[in-house]
Amino acid sequence: MKAHDIRLAFLDFFARRGHKIVQSSSLLPKDDPTLLFTNAGMNQFKNIFLGLEQRSYKRAASVQKCMRVSGKHNDLEQVGRTPKHHTFFEMLGNFSFGDYFKAEAVAFAWELVTRVFRLPADRLYITVFQEDEEAFRLWNEEVGLPADRIFLFGKKDNYWSMGDSGPCGPCSEIHFDQGPEIEPGQPRALIESGSDRMVELWNLVFMQFFQDEGGRLHPLPSPSIDTGLGLERTAAALQGQRSNYDTDLFRPLLETIGQACNREYPSGDEGDVSLRIIADHLRAVTFLISDGIMPANDGRGYVLRRLIRRAYRQGNLLGLDRPFLFRLTGAVSDLMKEAYPELLGSAALVSKICLSEEERFSATLAAGLRVFHEFAAEARRAGRPFLSGPQIFKLYDTYGFPLDLSLELGGEQGLKLDEAGFKEELAKQRERARASWRGDAAKKERQAYESFQREKIVFFGYDLVQVDDARVIGLLQDGKRVEALSPGGPGEVILDRTPFYAEAGGQTGDRGTMKNPRFSALVTATYSPLPEVIVHRVEVLSGQVRPGDEVEATVDSERRAALTRNHTATHLLHAALRQVLGEHVKQSGSLVLPERLRFDFIHFAALSPEEVRKVETLVNEVIRGDFAVETRVVSLEEGLGSGAMAIFEEKYGERVRMVSIADFSRELCGGVHASTTGRLGLFKISDETSIAAGMRRIEALTGGEALEATQKAETLLADLQAALGTSRQDLLAQAERLREETREKERENRALRQKIARGAVSQAGDNIRSVKGIKLLTRKVEGLNPTEIRELADSLKQKLGSGVVVLGQADAGKAFLVAAVTKDLTGRISAERIIKDLAGLVGGGGGGRPDFAQAGGHHPEKIDEALDQSAGLLERFL
Ligand code: ATP
Ligand code: MG
Repeated sequence: MKAHDIRLAFLDFFARRGHKIVQSSSLLPKDDPTLLFTNAGMNQFKNIFLGLEQRSYKRAASVQKCMRVSGKHNDLEQVGRTPKHHTFFEMLGNFSFGDYFKAEAVAFAWELVTRVFRLPADRLYITVFQEDEEAFRLWNEEVGLPADRIFLFGKKDNYWSMGDSGPCGPCSEIHFDQGPEIEPGQPRALIESGSDRMVELWNLVFMQFFQDEGGRLHPLPSPSIDTGLGLERTAAALQGQRSNYDTDLFRPLLETIGQACNREYPSGDEGDVSLRIIADHLRAVTFLISDGIMPANDGRGYVLRRLIRRAYRQGNLLGLDRPFLFRLTGAVSDLMKEAYPELLGSAALVSKICLSEEERFSATLAAGLRVFHEFAAEARRAGRPFLSGPQIFKLYDTYGFPLDLSLELGGEQGLKLDEAGFKEELAKQRERARASWRGDAAKKERQAYESFQREKIVFFGYDLVQVDDARVIGLLQDGKRVEALSPGGPGEVILDRTPFYAEAGGQTGDRGTMKNPRFSALVTATYSPLPEVIVHRVEVLSGQVRPGDEVEATVDSERRAALTRNHTATHLLHAALRQVLGEHVKQSGSLVLPERLRFDFIHFAALSPEEVRKVETLVNEVIRGDFAVETRVVSLEEGLGSGAMAIFEEKYGERVRMVSIADFSRELCGGVHASTTGRLGLFKISDETSIAAGMRRIEALTGGEALEATQKAETLLADLQAALGTSRQDLLAQAERLREETREKERENRALRQKIARGAVSQAGDNIRSVKGIKLLTRKVEGLNPTEIRELADSLKQKLGSGVVVLGQADAGKAFLVAAVTKDLTGRISAERIIKDLAGLVGGGGGGRPDFAQAGGHHPEKIDEALDQSAGLLERFL
């Protein structure tokens, strides 16, 4: 069967069984901001399943365009490498909106697969949710499949839910066995491991419950069906192919691409993967653009841009060095035009957009790759197979490398990437953009700084916090040299010598003051825009300063002391982590602020509380040892030879500073440190988190801040003691007791509510009337859950003996109504008809049976009106 015949056969099969054939919706989801792209057939029916919308039909079938490149469903990494995953694919689906349920869904699927598609039953396996006895029974007894072909799986594999709350239910899948030659083994285990041998063709979702915000499940009044059958996978099975790429949906395309790349498909090498990725991405790109998505720097447009760049890069790997995709998009339209004639209309546009994107990217790809390889070689030389955030950012920003391209290149070379660092750089860039610097101003400023590089500025801050006779060698304002600075607006001062430490190596720059008899200023930041240039950002408080003036420059020594404590603590933490966790621990970034420190490192698991305690204990032991923090300037060889840790992110010159603390820690570092470890006082870890795969982050405190943190914890405990009225030792037991009590109360409460629910007929608020001789009871209730309301309706029915009960409740912004009719009257009156009319009044929908029906709506204020009108309604029906 050709792919198009499969589409037609599928739709025909369900059309004959009363299904309305519905067109595929766009890849760009309408009115659903939570979704980047349409990723399943059910997307366009979501509001029907939620009861927010009603259509003229209760059964539908469709062939839906889908994309799975983001969010919960992201198959991008698999594409080209497995025979069964694509970014763009088509999903065939049949849907029941409160009409048929499990039995029919199972029977339909089985009939289609074995009778129409004629797949041999002995190559099919079924999975069902382990608690779904009904589904198991249907496959086993109704279809007649032996129990050993039906596998039970847990929630992770065979349970579906729309979101944290909403419709949900078990599912059941049909898998096709591609044969033991692909991989020997037990079918169940192969399905579990995602083997290429077992292909999930069809997923049947049985929407059976409504999960409320509290996680409780309520049976849906009208259970529904949502299914998805992969077209490409079905085509492979029916055409006797092991791979989707060998079906008529891909083969002609792969041949055209092969010609453009001067190679055969398949050739049995890595190049085949590239061809498959190109084929997949071409399809996606063609459909995305013709659905109105344009390349952009964020959101949907960025996904499109990434796909074009990835495909282009694959061509580059195969030796192409100029745009080529734009010539091939036409082949996609050609291949798919039967099912999607609209592609012909957009073919020219698709090709044009592709060309312009390819041109943009080709200009920088070669240069970017060169830079990437330089970074990679550098990283390996340093023995740290790792690309830093700033490096990845440079590739992204200057060479247009999407993060996933760098990840892919890194993967090929066994390199890890600091993704968190990259995101930080990205955020910084946005910040810079906001600071609204005009480009030429930035350039002028740079030129202004350059002239100071020849001046041999001397940094005195390792030994001093104050220099009395520093000379002003330059003043800047808004990036331009000026002849004087006066109060009003920030300016920049460059001195021939300074005690101010410029931000570097994770340590924040110093702050302080600058003054002479004719002038005083605050130093608000110190930084080094170019090597060897130290710039002080100042706010002039009084007087005026001019080039050539002498000033007294004084660092805020308390702040500096805090910075040195935290920087020294960073070294101790690094060493302690290596002792406790192992030598694989390597620093990948750090931030030293006066009030805290942050340390990022390579490690593959979260630290246990025990490990955290060990690290803290070790660092505090070294602090109590009060060792001198010794610094020495040595040659780079000597430094590395002595086993000092070098931090990968940093550039080192010929001569380096080596910072040693007894035998405990030795690092190459340009930062400013505490003179002895005792100065740190106390060290406390405040947080330990993951920042990327294999990367952890620790935040910690020293000195006064560490003490304050423990005091706060202490205060909290004391407050808890007071609030719970118990001693420290009994605190935990008391909390547990209280929790148990609350649970007990909840149980009592529930029992009470039920008791009330089953209560007497003659209750205030009840309204019993006789409508043409039939008893009608209406009541407005409060605080009951749907089950309890149903139970109440049943008991009221019993008490009436013969009659009609209508109950309504307004709760949490929603209206809920039930109608119940005693058995003797269902021939004359239908609860479902009553509820349908009332549902309209409260702005919702509902359904049920002749003897019982329920409805929900979002106009709770209309409940009274609805109850009032039920008498009139009943009268009309009789
Ligand atoms: P898999 O486990 O194979 O990744 P899935 O569980 O993600 O599939 P569903 O979400 O149940 O799949 O989607 C329904 C059907 O759509 C699947 O049974 C399969 O036939 C098809 N399908 C899903 N994802 C893809 C994809 N990336 N490429 C091609 N077909 C797919
Ligand atoms: Mg599935």
